[in-house]
Amino acid sequence: MRILICQCCGLPFSSKIRGTNRDLSLSSDYCYDCYRNGSFTNHHITVVDMEKKLQNMVRTNDGVTFEEAQQIICTLPNLKRWKMTHIL
Ligand SMILES: [Zn+2]
Repeated sequence: MRILICQCCGLPFSSKIRGTNRDLSLSSDYCYDCYRNGSFTNHHITVVDMEKKLQNMVRTNDGVTFEEAQQIICTLPNLKRWKMTHIL
């Protein structure tokens, strides 16, 4: 199976449960933390907040190593959710 990356937080779906679309089908773009029932769980979060969240996950040993977090932070601007903010 192809590893899916959440297009909001950048975390792979191997460690996260898939989010749900409005029709309750599983999302292949977003994880359950970020996306439920067809909408984002946090509408006001920015890409900077997401970086802080990842750094915090490293500090609290929440399943992400420092190297992984750095890598994910580099990919964040290319994710679907954050690409959109450049257009708006
Ligand atoms: Zn996510």
